[in-house]
Amino acid sequence: MNAPEDPKDNRLKQAEKITNHPEQYKVCEGCGSIVVVRAVTCPSCHAYRFDSAALRVVSQARDLAMRAANSVLASDLT
Ligand SMILES: [Zn+2]
Repeated sequence: MNAPEDPKDNRLKQAEKITNHPEQYKVCEGCGSIVVVRAVTCPSCHAYRFDSAALRVVSQARDLAMRAANSVLASDLT
């Protein structure tokens, strides 16, 4: 039986995967989402401008992972 993955945990794993393979991803210039490099438009905001620089992808992935961690902490306190 497969337990459904914790979405926060999944997000951290995803961020880790992205930082290990930044060449497979790019950052949406419209909303800052990270999408796979073969995506033509952003699934989130439908923008078609992306930054595929590895450094940008890695820092954005870390940023998103941190924000997820922060929101976990915030909800733990309430
Ligand atoms: Zn977007």
